[in-house]
This record gives sequence, structure tokens and C-alpha cells, in this order.
Amino acid sequence: MEITLSPLSPSVSKTFYASIHEMLDGERIRKCLQCGTCSGVCPFGYYMKYPPGKIIGTLRSEVFDLVMKTDSMWMCVSCSACSAFCPTQIPITAALMTRVKEEMILAGNVPAELQTALRNSQQYGNPMGESPRKRADWTTGIQPEINILGKTRQPVDVLWFVGDYASYHPRVQSATRALAKILNTLGVNFGILGPEENSDGDSQRLAGERGIFEMLAKKNGQTFRKYKFNKIVTTDPHAFNALKNEYPALGISYPVQHFTEFLAERLAQIKPLLKNEISAKIAYHDPCYLGRVNGVYDEPRELLRSIPGVELTEMSHQRANSLCCGGGGGGMWLDGFQWEKAHVRLSEWRVKEAISANANILAVACPYEPPRFEDATKTISSASHLKVREISELLVESMGL
Ligand code: SF4
Ligand code: SF4
Repeated sequence: MEITLSPLSPSVSKTFYASIHEMLDGERIRKCLQCGTCSGVCPFGYYMKYPPGKIIGTLRSEVFDLVMKTDSMWMCVSCSACSAFCPTQIPITAALMTRVKEEMILAGNVPAELQTALRNSQQYGNPMGESPRKRADWTTGIQPEINILGKTRQPVDVLWFVGDYASYHPRVQSATRALAKILNTLGVNFGILGPEENSDGDSQRLAGERGIFEMLAKKNGQTFRKYKFNKIVTTDPHAFNALKNEYPALGISYPVQHFTEFLAERLAQIKPLLKNEISAKIAYHDPCYLGRVNGVYDEPRELLRSIPGVELTEMSHQRANSLCCGGGGGGMWLDGFQWEKAHVRLSEWRVKEAISANANILAVACPYEPPRFEDATKTISSASHLKVREISELLVESMGL
């Protein structure tokens, strides 16, 4: 759909181009070869009127307003595949695509569902618009009781940053409870923030709302400072990415691990507990911001391989070349828009890859994925046998907890 906006002057292209140069490694944008690799690896490249290389072309020829007159930008799911494969290492996702989204938001050209998620994030501290008071409801009935730091004020070894979807989404809560059981079984001294936790803000940042990201990060930083802990462990690869790569620039700096790294370090303790065989061929889906962006590929596979009976198989897109589930970086708040545009769901594409790899379980390590992939198994007729399991759920099943 073409959107009518006031035309931007060539000087706007110049100002915008200069603002990218000022970003970390942004000056590399001058080195664009116009090779088209970014469009080729982009999962929605075919559907974008202006994929990254073309946007750079409009900046060079000072007709960037053409980009702003379309809503093509909202097909970008911030998966970072373009950045990973650009031969001149232009930080396309961080420096270009996110900046264009910021401009789109300033111009008021924002799909309605994204607007709602951003408004909820600002108002409630989570994109779903849930009550902060309900953030720890998933802990009900778990023994020993989960330590909510605001109640106990006890120092802990690990601050578990649970995250939005892991806290609130009914399907994902089962994986959250599984991880809690594992941590309890391993005797980890951990606590959570419960109602004091705010969204990590990473997806809001990637969707072009840097202001909301900074607001959320600062709130989390103030809460972290109230408690004593040695490290943060996250459920969500986006929280891991934000805490590792984005929060330090705001003066919020703590050692952080994704839960798969934390558990893989304890494999010697975990292996003797894995008593029940899970006889399955498992394909593991590398989340974009755990694998491609932060290089964590082996730890989730080591955990899966340690379960008796498990045979790992690989999908055609894997590791750095993984295919986005369509959820991260704001994609889950653009599902309706992208379906209307492309009539393609990346989650369905991924489920088809798992079937082609002869998997009967699709294993995941990101809270956005269980509901997305499970929905996809319902719409693909050949996928009725495919189960979607978060790694913690598989470990708990094998431990018989
Ligand atoms: S992959 Fe890099 S060099 Fe090639 S067109 Fe895209 S931005 Fe330019
Ligand atoms: S970040 Fe992913 S979706 Fe966005 S342009 Fe790059 S490859 Fe395409």
C-alpha cells in the first residue's frame, strides 16, 4: 500500500545518511557494493519494495523519501541475516533498518498492532498490557517456593531475568516452570524480580522505539541496583542481547548468560539426572539473537545431545544461517501486517524445514517460539506429528521431575 506523506527534501536524505555514519561502524555504509546479498538472504527480501541495499541506493541518490512513502520497512523482522552476510560488514540491522524504523515512527507510519505493543510497553512495562502485579503468578505452587527478591531481600548467586513472554504467556509458562524445577534440583541459589521486572526492551528498540527501550532499561537498572547478586541469567535471547550488548552503554553492566549457557556449564551435574529416555529425532532452531548475533550455537545442542535416546538432526537453515521464527525484533507485533502483505509465515516455513529434516521434535530456546511454531504445526497438514518443546521441558521430562 502506498502511503501519502509530505515529500522529504534531498537534505533529509543527507541528514539521515550522516546520522547513520555517526553510529557504531555506521561509516561502513559508504562501502556498500550494491551486491544485493542482503536482499537475497533476507527472509522477506522478495516482499520488500526497499530491501537494505536499495535503501542505501536511495540515500546515495538523495531520494530517501521514496522509502518513507511506503510501508515496506515493516516487513523487516530484525533477524540480522543481512548484517551477518554483508561482504563489507555493514551493521545493516542496527545502523540502517532500526534507524529507518525510528524515522517511520516519527512520521506516524506505524502498523496498529505495533503501536499497541509499544503503548503497552510504555504504560505497563510489558508489550502485552498485562498487570505488573501478575508477573510472578507463574510461580504459584512451585516448591521450594521461588525467591522474589522484593519480598525476601536475600542476596543470591543468580538473578533470573524471566522476561515478558516467559512470565505471562500461558504456553510459555510451562517452559518457565520447567527451568525453575531444574534450577531448584541443581541447588542454584537464585531469585527473580517478579512485579519489579520490566520488559528488557530489546524488541522495542529493534522496532524503532529507542526512547521506550531506554526507559525500560533504566527502570531495570534501578531495580538491579537494589539487590545483591553475582550474575544475571535470562530466559529470552533478546534479554540476553540487551543486557550483554546494549545496557552497558547506559551504565548498566552485569555478567549475563543465557540459560542454555548456564545449564551447559553444569552438564556434569545434569547428566546423571537424565534418567528417562526420549526416543526422538530433534531439530534445534537457533534463535537469531542467541546464535547469529551472540554466537551461542553449541550449548543448546550439547544439552539436547545429553538426553538419552535423542538423535540430533539439522535443518537446512542452521547456526549463522538460521531462519528467523518471525517473532523477535518486533516481528510478533507485525504478524497481521506481514500476513496481509506476503501471505507467508516464517514459522510455517521453519516447521516445513523441520519436517524435511525428518524431525519429530522441534526444540527451541526462546520464549517467543513455542506458541509460534505450535500454531504453525496446526496449519501444515504434514506437521501433525511434530512436537515443539523448549529445551528445559525436554530436560525436565528426562529427569522425571
Ligand atoms: S549486502 Fe552489504 S554490500 Fe551488498 S548490497 Fe547489501 S548492504 Fe550493500
Ligand atoms: S534484519 Fe532480517 S528481515 Fe531485516 S532486512 Fe535484514 S535480513 Fe531482512
